[in-house]
Amino acid sequence: MAKKLTKKETKVYRDLLLDRRNRLTGSMDSIGGSVSSQSGERDSASGDEADLGSMSVAQEFALSMLQNESGAVQKIDAALRRIDDGEFGFCDDCEEPIAKPRLEAIPWTTLCIDCQREAESH
Ligand SMILES: [Zn+2]
Repeated sequence: MAKKLTKKETKVYRDLLLDRRNRLTGSMDSIGGSVSSQSGERDSASGDEADLGSMSVAQEFALSMLQNESGAVQKIDAALRRIDDGEFGFCDDCEEPIAKPRLEAIPWTTLCIDCQREAESH
């Protein structure tokens, strides 16, 4: 049986996921709250985003990719549920631990890099 992430580790990823979720929804006040769609309300004020902390280039790239996908918020919510279930950080396919740099860039992923490549080649 694969070793699960420690609480400390899962907290890091939970924070990452919540941060990404806020960036996607443009909402600052939904942390831990229920899903609230704030349609039509765009936060154009400057300065707010800086409060969320800086992201690496890889993380920004991953987020921009996610923004182009449908169901992006659902993917993040699913990842948060996996954290609660203790399944977070393991590949859905081969059940091996997913590499940490990959999780830090794409915390909502469900596949390790090998299985992802495999999936994309089909
Ligand atoms: Zn895998």
